[in-house]
Amino acid sequence: MSAIIRSTAVAEFDVQRYRADFPALQRQVHGKPLVYFDNANTAQKPLGVIEAVDGYYRRHNANVSRAVHTLGSEATALYEATRDKLRAFINAPSRDEVIFTRGTTESINLVAYSWALPRLQPGDEILLTQMEHHANIVPWQLVCERTGAKIKVAPISASGELLLDQLDALLTPHVKLLALTHVSNVLGTVNPIARITAMARARGIPVLVDGSQAAPHLRIDVQALGCDFYAITGHKMFGPTGTGMLWAKRAILDSMPPFMGGGEMIKQVTFDKTIFNELPYKFEAGTPNIAGVIGLGAAIDYINALGIETIRAVENDLLGYATEQLNTIPGMRIFGTAPGKAAVISFLIEGVHAHDLATILDTDGVAVRSGHHCAHPLMQFFGVAATARASLAFYNTRDEIDIFITALLRARNMLL
Ligand code: PLP
Repeated sequence: MSAIIRSTAVAEFDVQRYRADFPALQRQVHGKPLVYFDNANTAQKPLGVIEAVDGYYRRHNANVSRAVHTLGSEATALYEATRDKLRAFINAPSRDEVIFTRGTTESINLVAYSWALPRLQPGDEILLTQMEHHANIVPWQLVCERTGAKIKVAPISASGELLLDQLDALLTPHVKLLALTHVSNVLGTVNPIARITAMARARGIPVLVDGSQAAPHLRIDVQALGCDFYAITGHKMFGPTGTGMLWAKRAILDSMPPFMGGGEMIKQVTFDKTIFNELPYKFEAGTPNIAGVIGLGAAIDYINALGIETIRAVENDLLGYATEQLNTIPGMRIFGTAPGKAAVISFLIEGVHAHDLATILDTDGVAVRSGHHCAHPLMQFFGVAATARASLAFYNTRDEIDIFITALLRARNMLL
């Protein structure tokens, strides 16, 4: 019997109704019902998203912003509608500040090459944190190598929380950008972004936030957060792969040269000179992932219809229950115990390799990720090569957690 008390809203949440929207959740793996606990890696897609992608190819397939014929207008309207949905989803002041990208990785690279590269000089610093995904480390290393700037790292505590006093002390005049994650993909820590941006703003330092793991779980308000750049990736928020967004303040985007050149991003081209298109198209060269973007719009509709607060409450309940059950397993070590964390649980069982664990869990139909989670420096901080990670979504259930725990105990018995 669990000690976790459930709110009425959570107790009354009809999870089966929502699970029915996700075809992949109905399948079996190795003859067992799939228990999908790899949501931080990529989330499953509801029918609305699948049908939006399918519907575009079946009915509206045409290129966007180019053709005056009916299909071209329909495709453009559907595609641009996602920009409006994204604007509202993150409470951006203007749709012109919403740039479509292939995901967070491309969004951060866009900022690194277009904003940072022309600005950085030897002696300048980019401040990151110990809990960053490689997507928020490697682009900065690449521009630092080319400019002579350096990376500095804000430390975290053993519980996986940023040490804010130390972060504050690192915000010196050398720092040209603070780039940090909103929610850690390994620890689940939700960083206090508004507090941190206030600290940076007091020193005139812009802040980029990697919102990959926040978008599926938290209400995002870029104006309240006070950041300058915000990046998200569609596939973790129930949308198609290869979709995402960079948001930045208009004045910043206006000051940045295009990242890539080609069709769409121009107003006029001669062989001598190109006049670039206005925002947001200046940053959207070439034919985009039209179907994917339309699917992302359907994913936002899905989240909005369910309600992000409901998602957070249901996942919180699952997190509490899973943590409680995991802690009954001998030799269990959980990485990331910050209060208010998201439903991401990285763990190890003493004496058991994470890959072996994940492989045996798979034979029971349970999908968890094992490895370094694209966060080598964080693994180094904890002194481990890899962890197993169960990352939950609102469509998971306590019954699935029970199956997971039984499978873990079976794996532990086999491996020890
Ligand atoms: N940042 C974080 C915190 C992530 O979890 C991920 C994906 O795992 C990324 C960035 C990169 O996202 P994408 O591969 O979709 O660009």
